[in-house]
Amino acid sequence: MERIFGRPIVTQEQMRTRIRELGRQIASDYAGKDLVLVGVLKGAYAFYADLARASRIPMRVEFIVVTSYGAGKKSSGKVKLVSDLTEPIAGKDVLLVEDIVDSGLTVQYLMKTLSRRKPRSLKVCTLLSKPDRRTVEVDLEYVGFKIPNKFVVGYGLDYRQEYRNLPYLAALDQGDEQEQESA
Ligand code: 5GP
Repeated sequence: MERIFGRPIVTQEQMRTRIRELGRQIASDYAGKDLVLVGVLKGAYAFYADLARASRIPMRVEFIVVTSYGAGKKSSGKVKLVSDLTEPIAGKDVLLVEDIVDSGLTVQYLMKTLSRRKPRSLKVCTLLSKPDRRTVEVDLEYVGFKIPNKFVVGYGLDYRQEYRNLPYLAALDQGDEQEQESA
């Protein structure tokens, strides 16, 4: 499993420390509010589980499943909603939990879709951000790590649906132009 990886980008220890900080920040910002933590699957599953446990305030947990298709390891912007939330979010304080914001198109799509349902507030927490890759402007309230323009795997992020369970984040050391489909 380790064979194809280049250098680790974020270690397990760095993850733990940063997620603890984010959890404390979210707990403070959302104290007394009606928080619904919406995880974007599959990529956010590992981050989500750690973040939810690090944010020690009452919350509801919800998930939404999207796929974004693209070649050359980048999103085409064609986002597809595969599975929706189980409850209405009108009047709730919704925090969207993402694995990575690359072009920004997925987050833009989700913000548009969810804001139509009239939540009281709607913000984004992403584990990773690649600011150099942005093609649309998105407002990210919480960012775990800003990373350079490399294709990364681990900690929920896949390459062809594998490596999601890697407990740290690594750059995939292969050619840049392989097909990628992510969820
Ligand atoms: P967007 O371009 O819409 O901001 O990002 C769409 C999706 O592309 C992300 O949710 C993620 O699934 C995938 N993605 C973007 N960059 C990477 C990366 O470096 N590694 C992996 N595994 N997926 C990525």
